[in-house]
Amino acid sequence: MNSEITAPPEANSGAETAQATITFDDLGLSADTLRAVKEGGYNTPTPIQAQAIPEVLKGRDILGIAQTGTGKTAAFVLPMIDILAAGRARARMPRTLILEPTRELAAQVAENFDKYGKYQKLTKALLIGGVSFGDQDALLARGVDVLIATPGRLLDHFERGKLLLTGVQVMVVDEADRMLDMGFIPDIERIFKLTPFTRQTLFFSATMPPEITRLTEAFLSSPKRIEASRPATAAGTIEQRIIPLPGGDPRTRRAALRAVMQSANVRNGIIFCNRKTDVDVVAQSLKRHGFNASPIHGDLDQSLRTKTLDRFRSGDLQFLIASDVAARGLDIPDVSHVFNYEPPRSPDDYVHRIGRTGRAGKQGASFTLVAPNDRKSLDAIEKLMGKTIEAASIEGVPEAAIGDPRDTGGRGRRAEELKREHSKRITEKKQRFQKRDPERPEAATEPVKPGEPSEPRPPREERPRASRNERHREKTPAPLPHQDKDTPGFGDNLPAFLRKK
Ligand code: AMP
Repeated sequence: MNSEITAPPEANSGAETAQATITFDDLGLSADTLRAVKEGGYNTPTPIQAQAIPEVLKGRDILGIAQTGTGKTAAFVLPMIDILAAGRARARMPRTLILEPTRELAAQVAENFDKYGKYQKLTKALLIGGVSFGDQDALLARGVDVLIATPGRLLDHFERGKLLLTGVQVMVVDEADRMLDMGFIPDIERIFKLTPFTRQTLFFSATMPPEITRLTEAFLSSPKRIEASRPATAAGTIEQRIIPLPGGDPRTRRAALRAVMQSANVRNGIIFCNRKTDVDVVAQSLKRHGFNASPIHGDLDQSLRTKTLDRFRSGDLQFLIASDVAARGLDIPDVSHVFNYEPPRSPDDYVHRIGRTGRAGKQGASFTLVAPNDRKSLDAIEKLMGKTIEAASIEGVPEAAIGDPRDTGGRGRRAEELKREHSKRITEKKQRFQKRDPERPEAATEPVKPGEPSEPRPPREERPRASRNERHREKTPAPLPHQDKDTPGFGDNLPAFLRKK
């Protein structure tokens, strides 16, 4: 790959910090597009826009190493609008193709085309899951200038014989590293091969893991490489703290989360979870405790996701509980707080998560709950950030919950970990026992309203399937407290007259 290296623009702290000397008028955009841009409220191009737009208009491939918040969407949408101004769409043969990892991102890109392409007559189709095939197919049949799609849905249409990609002149791959996380790379490769070799490719990724580098080497031709700094480098406005927990028990985590959410001066916030099942459980738990909170993740109905996001954007909803995939790239301005229910497994996700706050020079804060088992993730995050994230002590978090997981008290780290794992197992065992015997006063550590389940359960399909032995154990009644488990021959069916009094 003969990519040209462009140094990251200095003092680039995202979309709002633009290069002072370059204006939109200098980039070679048409008068119609410039008018729409100005009416849309952009005054100065961001560094990635200033660098990419002239090159895209020249027909050059782009490798943009940038994430959301840098203004990368307009960096490809604006020049594409002008490229598309000449020529006409043919039935079932889109002229340009934009691949996005999630439906929300695809919808956002479509909105950008509407907003900035309002003076040009462009046709577009959005191929995303959760929308009827019939409507999408009708649009394709008429012919579209822009096709915005998630890879799976695009291939579904292709396999039904409803789509030809041989007319694609410009192809955009957005958030490529997220596509990698979601397992879309084979699909992307296949889609690349279905488009003409002569196409122009605009490729964006926040990070460049080896699989992504390989893809760019295979499918981009002498791209202009543009790097826009990530929010982490602009994180001066984000106060980051960890909240050390004594163990990974979900109840402790949720109690600590509530305490942190109540302690800080929180206007609104996003709570990130690593798993979809946790998104649901945390959302239900927060709601039960009176928080104005709703979940968003990939398994929720599209119209519900859109409604939830709109409510969050308008301020009607105060807290959004999200998975990384659902939140990636969402344009949610001005969040005061980010809470990590646990540290993300990938340190890049941490950067993405905290980048949702502290935007445009505003003050933001992020709190990450860290149990001893999360140490590895925290280490990776601190390595990437190049600093230690300080621990905060929060009023309302039980005193026992405060203790830095890194504090090994001079003993070996592994020994400390083993000890904590052991006490965690004991605690979990105790809790299982207490659940079966609700009379015991310690059974409920978290106040639950009468008539409500003590533990919100994830939807059936998300529950891990128990093994036969586990199912058997679940069906078998718990032994009575005085029952001698070792009485031979009777198992759990010890006759009453043999029971010790
Ligand atoms: P993106 O990185 O494309 O997700 O854009 C992040 C945010 O920056 C969005 O809210 C855009 O509307 C905004 N934005 C993009 N370009 C500009 C610009 N030149 N000036 C001000 N805001 C911008």
